[in-house]
Amino acid sequence: MVLIDGKKIAQEIKEEVAKEVAQRKARGLKTPHLSAILVGNDGASETYVGAKVKSCHEVGFESSLLRFDSNISEEELLNEIEKLNNDPSVDGFIVQLPLPKHINEQKVIEAVNPAKDVDGFHPVNAGKMLLNLPSFLPATPYGIIQLLERYNIETSGKHCVVIGRSNIVGMPMSVLLARNSYPGNCTVTITHSRTKNLKELTLQADMIVAALGKAEFLTADMVKQGAVVIDVGITRLPSDKTKSGFKLFGDVKFDEVAPKCSYITPVPGGVGPMTIMSLIKNTLQACRNKD
Ligand code: NAD
Repeated sequence: MVLIDGKKIAQEIKEEVAKEVAQRKARGLKTPHLSAILVGNDGASETYVGAKVKSCHEVGFESSLLRFDSNISEEELLNEIEKLNNDPSVDGFIVQLPLPKHINEQKVIEAVNPAKDVDGFHPVNAGKMLLNLPSFLPATPYGIIQLLERYNIETSGKHCVVIGRSNIVGMPMSVLLARNSYPGNCTVTITHSRTKNLKELTLQADMIVAALGKAEFLTADMVKQGAVVIDVGITRLPSDKTKSGFKLFGDVKFDEVAPKCSYITPVPGGVGPMTIMSLIKNTLQACRNKD
């Protein structure tokens, strides 16, 4: 069993990007600039945005954080997005989700210029991904693709069962694994909350991507010997065994599933660290696209 070390690969990518940014600066090319919009002060969103800004600094990007009160109107927010769309110094930007209930998230996603949509959420980028055209890929599936690639995991002709069909993880993951490329060329089964025979399907899988958000859902009796298991889930539950009083759980019951696997990602330290690096790579690409 090989433990896929997302922390190590994310660090490698960080160093590669930092090197390219330094070279760009030395050649007088533009320094990539990522902006983030944060509405309100939700604790988890603050943490995620903070980590993104920190990573920008570490690779030598410029970054800017635009904070707005939770009572900002939809119209005002759309105006701020338009300003970033028109600001030539900004290569890419994200609007941290979730947004307050009075703001239509889909409208916000569609207001972002696809050329600056480094989260890869705009329908233009989703459509290009579907057609295997160059596009910004959503961060988590892109991170998983990079892990498969860097560990040289064979995917061609393999049966992959993806558990979950969300717009940000399950659905794009299924599309990417089915594409005619490497990693890809899988036979993909997309499963979701209405799937009736999940265990029957996962037992046939050469690879399982678990992205349903239910702690330790995937148990050893659901996994074929030698399968590749990618655990996307992050559930924070109270625990008396940690200092913080909380523990993170993946969607996979790691201790019993790991011995059956050829490769497996841990939680934490697997898929999680890769997500921000995907955003960083997309921003670098957005900047390169303007060279
Ligand atoms: P979501 O709630 O939007 O989607 C969950 C999906 O799972 C749905 O499509 C649903 O149909 C499916 N599902 C629910 N119960 C099921 C069941 N019993 N059997 C089969 N399918 C079932 O969640 P999401 O945004 O896709 O996130 C999924 C998990 O991944 C969460 O734990 C989230 O915290 C985590 N996540 C991690 C990262 C990361 O960087 N590691 C990034 C994004 C999300």
